[in-house]
Amino acid sequence: MLKAKLEFALGPRELALQTGDITKVAADAIGNAANSQLAGGGGVDGAIHRAGGPSIMRELDVIRDRIETCRAGNAVATGAGSLPAKWVLHAVGPVYRGGRHGEAAILASCYRQCMILAEELGAKSLTLPAISTGVYGYPMDEAADIAVTTVADVLAAAETEVRRVSFVLWGDRAFQAFARSSLEIVRQIT
Ligand code: ADP
Repeated sequence: MLKAKLEFALGPRELALQTGDITKVAADAIGNAANSQLAGGGGVDGAIHRAGGPSIMRELDVIRDRIETCRAGNAVATGAGSLPAKWVLHAVGPVYRGGRHGEAAILASCYRQCMILAEELGAKSLTLPAISTGVYGYPMDEAADIAVTTVADVLAAAETEVRRVSFVLWGDRAFQAFARSSLEIVRQIT
């Protein structure tokens, strides 16, 4: 994987993209691509639990006792264990089933919920993965457009105290898709 980075100013807020492992990038809050059982899994979820340690799952056990499942499009927050962050925001993305089952709205909701939780917690910086683009099968280009539009709209409207959002992307193909979306979307809104 090449090391790549891009940054955009949206007024006093920043939108950034980089390749890498999200568990290694410091931020106040880290987004996770969780499943509705909040049970841990492979991909970025597995990496976050491995790097963060067992306290994250212990907190999720308590949340699960209360809400049973977290529906797609929603997110819950826990502490971040030994990750270089204070909080993990566990967002449940849609499983992609052809695009006509409300997947786009659900994916946008995941990113909005992450922004809302980050704001509520007082996080000033947030890292996010490309939710649903792994096992859940969301086409990368479409997912990138939804992710960047949703986050950039909140940042550009200054609707948040979150100062900086960085997408941390696993691989060159994901980075290229997010870079193309960001160049287009930032040009439209600035
Ligand atoms: P989902 O089930 O929501 O599709 P996955 O974890 O399978 O979640 O994949 C989501 C995205 O996260 C994919 O683009 C995958 O390549 C990426 N990914 C996997 N591991 C990491 C990591 N350590 N850091 C950042 N992104 C990751």
